Amino acid sequence: MSECKEYKIDTKCLQEGWKPGNGEPRVLPIYQSTTYKYDSAKHLAGLFDLSVPGHMYTRISNPTVDFVEKKIASLEGGTGAMLTSSGQAANFAAVFNICSAGQNFISLSTIYGGTLNLFAVTMKRMGIEARFVTPDMSDDEIDGFFDENTRCVFGETIANPALNVLDIERFAGIAHRHGVPLIVDNTFATPILCRPFEFGADIVTHSTTKYMDGHATVVGGVIVDSGKFDWAAGGKYPELTEADESYHGVVYTRDFGDAAYITKARVQLMRDMGITPQPIAAFLINEGLDTLALRMERHCANALAVAKYLEKDPRVTWVNYPGLESSSEHAAAMKYTPSGCSGVVSFGVRGGRDAAVKFMDSLELAAIVVHVADARTCVLHPASTTHRQLTDEQLEDAGVSPDLIRLSVGIENVEDIIADIDQALDKSQK
Ligand SMILES: *Cc1c(COP(=O)(O)O)cnc(C)c1O
Repeated sequence: MSECKEYKIDTKCLQEGWKPGNGEPRVLPIYQSTTYKYDSAKHLAGLFDLSVPGHMYTRISNPTVDFVEKKIASLEGGTGAMLTSSGQAANFAAVFNICSAGQNFISLSTIYGGTLNLFAVTMKRMGIEARFVTPDMSDDEIDGFFDENTRCVFGETIANPALNVLDIERFAGIAHRHGVPLIVDNTFATPILCRPFEFGADIVTHSTTKYMDGHATVVGGVIVDSGKFDWAAGGKYPELTEADESYHGVVYTRDFGDAAYITKARVQLMRDMGITPQPIAAFLINEGLDTLALRMERHCANALAVAKYLEKDPRVTWVNYPGLESSSEHAAAMKYTPSGCSGVVSFGVRGGRDAAVKFMDSLELAAIVVHVADARTCVLHPASTTHRQLTDEQLEDAGVSPDLIRLSVGIENVEDIIADIDQALDKSQK
């Protein structure tokens, strides 16, 4: 197989990463080993100095993990990737790699609740301030949140669960004007629907737990580096452009070029924090990636059909899906995710919270789970579960109406999915 051949993305899902040689296993092997063996102490010393490439200890890198990282980097069009133990770990490390105590960063407020907690509560305790902006603010307003200690801008391609579509070009433009990179959590879109680097994003993260795995088997995350951000330009990132004392003299931009950011994340943060994926986790993610393109096509087609069905139904008060022409996000979706808007649809049942609970309890095919982006259709009612401590008024403030149902449309036959929704809507109105 020629290395320089650039395959289409659905081919890459299957052919990138592990490329066996003559007589080697067809399928990516699980290198279930913490440790590696060397012929000389000198060779190992070179690994410790980062002057020789190779694996040293599985907390930092492992061959199975490495092949999956290469596949994901290829799918996103990046220079390198680092798998992590979870999506939370990926988003934490992506920001912490370039942001220290006393500094701050800008984040869209329309992001996953877990990330919001990480940024607003836990990272605050580390002395790092997240400054939240909304997509409807003007550029001038957003400019007002930057100062000389601002280190990056963060947003989600398709926000979980609000389903806003990020104007990546606009936010990349704002970030770059201030000399900082744009980090995009591309979990819901996946590289099949959107590749944020093509619109100017610099770093991409994922919770691989969602569509990349796609079978609800393994928690994981990944950071991908575009390799395009110029860390030296503004003199703002000495942690990348000056010697790392913990490697007596390594300078990431000098020694690793366009892989400076992702190399630092691995040899410093992965080494010190141990947010390491297990080889078996990487193997399972790889199995999911093999069929990602095919599954996303079906998720998107099914979700659009379900959203159109719900939109016409008098038992449903509102539907939010960026693929619907009625959606405020439709124009952005046509630009950033033209081939589909993922499988997540939110909607309200007539009759509010009580009807929503009855609807949930009446579903037979769709399962009640705290998860999205599974191959199997699943559903969550935030007001009675993840947000149940809040009053109706507090729910509205959080952008979660009491009747909101988050439906993660799976890849079953869409007629079965719609029939299940239909019978449950009937029962919700009784
Ligand atoms: C689930 C999720 C995360 C967190 O990922 P985990 O793998 O659960 O740690 C981060 N971002 C988004 C958009 C998510 O949906």
